[in-house]
Amino acid sequence: MTSLALAASDALRGAGLRVTESRSAVYEALRSAPHASADDVYERIRVHVPGTSRQSVYNALGDFADAGLVRRIEPAGRPMLFELRVDDNHHHLVCTGCGAVEDIDCAVGAAPCLVPSDDHGYTIAAAEVTFWGVCPACRSARP
Ligand SMILES: [Zn+2]
Ligand SMILES: [Zn+2]
Repeated sequence: MTSLALAASDALRGAGLRVTESRSAVYEALRSAPHASADDVYERIRVHVPGTSRQSVYNALGDFADAGLVRRIEPAGRPMLFELRVDDNHHHLVCTGCGAVEDIDCAVGAAPCLVPSDDHGYTIAAAEVTFWGVCPACRSARP
């Protein structure tokens, strides 16, 4: 067992999840590809974990989300993405051309980093900002 696999099993156990081969593989895939969709994860692990189904990847990601192990991000018009970086209220920059996603650190390092002009009496727990733009690769590919 590699040290990476060991870390995945520790993380799974730490979140109260039973360690399975496909869960460990999903966790590792997210570590090497942050902001991956369920289909991205499946494509990454299917060669390494024969017998893994798309459904088992969806199930693992759902379990991870319930356990607080992953964060779901949903840029408008894009498939839902998953990442292991949780609980730091960071934001995202999304390329309108190729869909590349970058992390943007929270402006003040604590949630919520933005104060709404009117909180309507709510207790605000988090602020989630999506910046949209064109990445350098897409910009240079443009005629
Ligand atoms: Zn791009
Ligand atoms: Zn992120």
